[in-house]
Amino acid sequence: MNLFNSRQDNPGLQEILAANLTRTRERISRALEKSSEPDRSVTLVAVSKKQPLEKILILAEHGQIHFGENYVQEALDKMGEIGQSGLKWHFIGGLQTNKAKYVAGKFSLVHSVDTLKLAQGLHKKAKSLDMVQHILIQVNLAEETQKYGVWENNLPSLARSILEFQHLKLDGLMVMPPFTDNAENSRPLFARARRLKYDLEQSLGIGMAHLSMGMSQDLEVAVEEGATLVRVGTSLLGSRADRTLSSAS
Ligand SMILES: *Cc1c(COP(=O)(O)O)cnc(C)c1O
Repeated sequence: MNLFNSRQDNPGLQEILAANLTRTRERISRALEKSSEPDRSVTLVAVSKKQPLEKILILAEHGQIHFGENYVQEALDKMGEIGQSGLKWHFIGGLQTNKAKYVAGKFSLVHSVDTLKLAQGLHKKAKSLDMVQHILIQVNLAEETQKYGVWENNLPSLARSILEFQHLKLDGLMVMPPFTDNAENSRPLFARARRLKYDLEQSLGIGMAHLSMGMSQDLEVAVEEGATLVRVGTSLLGSRADRTLSSAS
């Protein structure tokens, strides 16, 4: 992407990010080898929320294509500044229904659909644009009251309703386990997510390509348990509050 070459004004940051990207890709491929389906592809989504544009551009220059954002305005600002680029944007944050119209059509994949109203909002906008918006349903498997995501008992009916929307395409599920300092603690939840996706595919008679799970701390466990999309922020782009990494912008 020659487009970005003019931005190479911080060699230290370049080296750090290039090394992080290599290490993250290696972590994914090692875990993939250990998993039961080592031939599938796992897509690395670089979570760039609250990170400066410069880091996105550097990673893009090193071949990173998929970027994840959590905040609508921040994401749209970044897209606007970068312009046509071939990058693929993922919306991974909690999304209010009234902002669905700003998201549909702008993101390759929305990971965080968790209510029928939100799905309706995305569908309405996608229809007006005459396009199909790809989405995942975020499932709150641990039933943490303060977190986004549909609870398991409401998943089948939400999924069924979404299948009625011709301008939405249900590509799979997204989960985010409760915080823990030991990634192994999340393994049972990742395994459950995989079974849940399988059960849903059987009961709805459809195939779904994606299971979005795994972040900086636990991506190996998630990939071993079947993730096809991992969402990696800090271990790839550095701490979101880290001034040494973000000062250059
Ligand atoms: C911030 C965020 C991530 C990335 O988290 P890290 O721990 O920085 O890798 C992944 N998924 C979601 C939904 C997030 O909000």
